[in-house]
Amino acid sequence: MVVVMEKNATQAQIEHVVATLIEKNFDVHRSTGISRTVIGAIGDKANFDEREFLVLDGVSEVVRITEPYKLASRTFHPENTIVQIKDVKIGGDEVVVMAGPCSIENEEQIETIAALVKKSGAKILRGGAFKPRTSPYSFQGMGEEGLRIMRAAADRNDLLIVSEIMDRAQLDMMVNYCDILQVGARNMQNFDLLKALGKVQTPILLKRGMSATIEETLMSAEYIMAGGNYNVIICERGIRTFEKYTRNTMDISAIPVIQKLSHLPIIADPSHGTGIRNKVAPMARASVAAGAHGLQIEVHHDPDHAASDGAQSLYPEQFDRLMEECRLIAKAIGKRM
Ligand code: PEP
Ligand code: MN
Repeated sequence: MVVVMEKNATQAQIEHVVATLIEKNFDVHRSTGISRTVIGAIGDKANFDEREFLVLDGVSEVVRITEPYKLASRTFHPENTIVQIKDVKIGGDEVVVMAGPCSIENEEQIETIAALVKKSGAKILRGGAFKPRTSPYSFQGMGEEGLRIMRAAADRNDLLIVSEIMDRAQLDMMVNYCDILQVGARNMQNFDLLKALGKVQTPILLKRGMSATIEETLMSAEYIMAGGNYNVIICERGIRTFEKYTRNTMDISAIPVIQKLSHLPIIADPSHGTGIRNKVAPMARASVAAGAHGLQIEVHHDPDHAASDGAQSLYPEQFDRLMEECRLIAKAIGKRM
């Protein structure tokens, strides 16, 4: 951290800042220029609040140099993390696709969609059994019965499963059905849930909160990793902005930014990122081109009658074409799909 003093800071103010830094176990290096004093503070500390120094008399600016996250940071782990589940590797050269309905609705629906997405090349079946709906009157998901029928459909089609966990009370039950547990955007800062997920080894798909900065997203990954679970995959799913033409604003730039800051795999969800069917494919293609390690796409065989998010769900033919297009893009940047 660097503390820049004001031009007219007094000697006493400078001494006080230095003393405060030493008291907090920082190594202090002071350099005095013609007009200002700059104080360099070195310490292996993830846990400090730079505002504690900003409020001291005579301080003009405080600049943090190291990231507040350690385990998620590329600085401390330069190689990409590859999350492996059975023979599927997320975080390497292969772009891995998770596809399926927003919600599991019934046996016939999940079986039909599982077979279709498998045929198009998806490796992982998505589907919510516990749905975080804005309205309490909307379909809330089938619960455990939904997971049971999704597991059966996935096994019949040789697919893995990702499904959203909304509460830590669901954890013991869900690990019996799911290969990946998804933390939804609305729960990205449910710290009790994140801590509980740190105690299992099931891979976690952590979706960026709709108003979360990239740093906050990585801090949430840090929560899970600090508990001992290093199998974390980040998911960019759009953030809330003032724009109204799309449900969210798909932040494609988060993909290379996160890849620079962190070794964790990062995938993209253009379905929630745009909220509109005809915007999903362009943003999916852009995400692959930007270097995403995978995609999560909502697909439904009958989206007009879907229990949730029909408007952003692709028809199977659209998904199939998108997979073809993404394969070409992946190849063009030296990846496989
Ligand atoms: C979902 O994937 O079903 C979902 C609700 O996504 P998000 O948490 O990104 O809104
Ligand atoms: Mn959805």
